[in-house]
Amino acid sequence: MSKTYIRYDSSSDQGEIRLMQFSLIKEDKAIWRIKLVSVSSDEMQSLMNPHLSQFGKMCYETGSTGYICPICNLEIDEFGLCGCGTGSG
Ligand SMILES: [Zn+2]
Repeated sequence: MSKTYIRYDSSSDQGEIRLMQFSLIKEDKAIWRIKLVSVSSDEMQSLMNPHLSQFGKMCYETGSTGYICPICNLEIDEFGLCGCGTGSG
């Protein structure tokens, strides 16, 4: 029985961020290469969680500002982002 899985290959520090490389393996062949940059040093969590790789923390760890976006009515977080993106402008 063949397995399909993601293999972590390597990572390299590029100053503040890490460049990480993975391969999607099917029947012992790498059929897809995945490269991502992350501010986190946790490779698998960065792959599974784009929020962590982009901001360095999980979405539920992100602080709030108490400001509500007038367009989408969602709270603007510590990165100045809301549901619609207007709050980041
Ligand atoms: Zn909004």
